[in-house]
Amino acid sequence: MRKWVACLVAITLATNILSLPAEAKHHSQADKSQSKTQQVAGKTAWQPELKVGVLQNQSAVNIVVRGKAQVLAAGSKKPVLTLAANEKVTIKADGKHLRVNGKKVTASSVTIQAAEAALADKFRFTAGGHDYRGAAVVMLKGSSLTLIDQVRAEDYLYSVVPEEMPSEWPQEAVKAQAVAARTFALQNRGRHDSQGYDLCMSTHCQVYGGTASEKAASSKAVDATRGETLVYNNKLINALFHTDSGGMTENSEDVWGSRLPYLRAATEVHTHTQPWEKTVTAEQMARLVQQSSHKDIGKLKKIEQSALHFGKASGDRSVSGRVRHVTFIGSQGRAEVTGNKLREILGLKSTLFTMSLKNGSVIIKGYGWGHGLGLSQNGAKAWAGQKDYKAILAHYYQGTNLKKLY
Ligand SMILES: [Zn+2]
Repeated sequence: MRKWVACLVAITLATNILSLPAEAKHHSQADKSQSKTQQVAGKTAWQPELKVGVLQNQSAVNIVVRGKAQVLAAGSKKPVLTLAANEKVTIKADGKHLRVNGKKVTASSVTIQAAEAALADKFRFTAGGHDYRGAAVVMLKGSSLTLIDQVRAEDYLYSVVPEEMPSEWPQEAVKAQAVAARTFALQNRGRHDSQGYDLCMSTHCQVYGGTASEKAASSKAVDATRGETLVYNNKLINALFHTDSGGMTENSEDVWGSRLPYLRAATEVHTHTQPWEKTVTAEQMARLVQQSSHKDIGKLKKIEQSALHFGKASGDRSVSGRVRHVTFIGSQGRAEVTGNKLREILGLKSTLFTMSLKNGSVIIKGYGWGHGLGLSQNGAKAWAGQKDYKAILAHYYQGTNLKKLY
């Protein structure tokens, strides 16, 4: 399951203004020759491809092909090499050139793919102990090699969705997750452009583990929502999600300071979910307050904070109850620290918490896990008893429309 941490907060809101992928626009023009190809190819009908960074800074890359394959140099249609199923190929960096099984290839990259387009659906390759769908692209980057999995969006989602949400959860929740993950992937394409690919395999983007992660129930949810994405004003949204809101999701401006019309505080079936607790000494707390506020308050005497009410904002709490700031009063003065800062310096699961000072200890009791923006995964699981995935998505991403891109 995804554990969205502070890094996501740093996602620039500017990415939201990106429009739909170029292929999607092209495709929506109903190119006749393309639809003919779709009929012939059946399951291989058009869909966007994603470049996922698999290995970086390698001097050599070993790949075992799981099907008849060919190795193509960039810019050439004539294979450098053909391979039988389960055959191994080694690509090495040799100055400004590549060596494919020892043979010098003057190109910046090679692609190892199914020998024929008709075999592409079943083609797999193994590298670094993992098995992947798609084609392997080995790229010369400076004097080292990068391995990229060039994979179709739906094939990518077969692996990502069960990594992000347990596949045995209610199917409507998993379908909502599939649409959110698809939207996130397509909207964030090019995030790792400078490294030569679109997305990485970690929580920084979305967790991708190749075919070993795939589960029948989540693949069913991917197939049932094929090509479906969320748009606002016809643009892909930044479909953020998190583990558990704790009782209510959050308005984007209360996390980032910038307002996104579709990231609004939304109610949950249950409140006070995923409770957590942390204790630090009053001395530790006073030190941390000093470090973050640059004020020495002396000995910590009192903590000022409003009581938690879901759906009711106060000066120091947002409408979802998340902490805007806490006031610390000491023997030498007072200081305010923001909820985001406290979450960071104390390593808290969320900013939905209440602090109290008792017998020289600061007890922090909180709920939820994550930034609280967009879809709450545990929340979606709870709503799945009464809403279908479309209604769940409309609940967490307000004012958006479901759009089938392909
Ligand atoms: Zn990434």
